[in-house]
Amino acid sequence: MIKINVQRLMKHIKDLSKFGHDPNGGVTRFPFTAEEREAKRYIVHLMKQIGLEIYEDEIGNLFGKRVGTDSALPSILIGSHLDTVKNGGMFDGALGVLAGIEILQTMMEQGIQTRHSISVAAFTDEEGVRFSTGMLGSRALTGELQEEELFQYKDENGISIADGMVQCGYNPKLVHRARRCSKEFKAFLELHIEQGKVLESEQAPVGIVTGIVGVKWLKVTIRGEEGHAGTTPMAMRKDPVTVAARLIDFVEQKAQQSDGLRATVGSIRVFPGSINVIPREVELFFDIRHLSWELICQMEDDIQMFLSACCNTKGMTFTVEATHELKPVSCSPVLIEAIRTAAKRTGTKFLMLPSGAAHDAMILASLTKIGMVFVRSKDGISHSPLEWSDADDIEAAANILLHALLDIAEAEKI
Ligand SMILES: [Zn+2]
Repeated sequence: MIKINVQRLMKHIKDLSKFGHDPNGGVTRFPFTAEEREAKRYIVHLMKQIGLEIYEDEIGNLFGKRVGTDSALPSILIGSHLDTVKNGGMFDGALGVLAGIEILQTMMEQGIQTRHSISVAAFTDEEGVRFSTGMLGSRALTGELQEEELFQYKDENGISIADGMVQCGYNPKLVHRARRCSKEFKAFLELHIEQGKVLESEQAPVGIVTGIVGVKWLKVTIRGEEGHAGTTPMAMRKDPVTVAARLIDFVEQKAQQSDGLRATVGSIRVFPGSINVIPREVELFFDIRHLSWELICQMEDDIQMFLSACCNTKGMTFTVEATHELKPVSCSPVLIEAIRTAAKRTGTKFLMLPSGAAHDAMILASLTKIGMVFVRSKDGISHSPLEWSDADDIEAAANILLHALLDIAEAEKI
């Protein structure tokens, strides 16, 4: 059975992590910086070594294509992103790009040709930390990224995305040219670390992703009546904090009861916020996630109902406002099946699971069929210098992707 060379892949992962090596720990490789350019130069070097056709688009996405025997067929895209968060790890994103190159190198060494072309992509600015946005590269590919955004978003030094692009030799006015059409692609497959503890707890080295969860952010404002903490009897109070506390408990219980639903209150603001004053207003910020958009919306309705019941009797008011929405996407059943078959063929234990975090694949779902393979993360840690995945797990996942690709890209031995 054909296998990738995991020692070589691990060496490439280590080598790449030197570009943006942060003296405070981990890797800091922001988009449109010298570190990112060096990392790209390294990727180009690896791509050239195995004879890939190299192409960089107007937002800086890098592609290395291994041309198939039938160039009229749509190509298959694999890969991930090269940027990191501040003091991030060396696997998040980089693994998908380097594993893609390793897979194509293995095919080359084994004399395997595919009917469909296969391109490895390194997407620009997935994390979005520098400019408080994100998925720039994949959004440029689908045509979702607007030119205005490049001038609007700035980093902490006041440098806009457009400024950063110009500094690196790109023309922000030409970003629309990065747009690609659906007909060009048969599929996108992304190999990524899990960034969670599910695979570890199930002792599975590899996960097959069923879909990427949708997200709704809700800003809930509950209004009561300000009062003196000492002189206002308990029965006469209109205290929004007590309603907020009940609501948080209600939502937590609801989420526990429904499979896979995640609900978090990550931020609470109390006004006026003095220890001896009954607050007049509370703001709660909910993050709700699930693979089913209906379930997310059902939770929003439940919050409305709960607040109506609590507030109406006390003469208090509330508003529920959705501040951010991202619909869930499903991975293609055909690709899931190909990955499952490959996992069985390679004898790897796997788990089917949704992705709780967003990825480039989520964006590319509007362009082509998507599939994702996860690698177990040690202690579920990511976005940290402690991020780690074992070589054995990486090998298993990359071999699964290799065998799935042999099937999807219609391999023929020459
Ligand atoms: Zn990532």
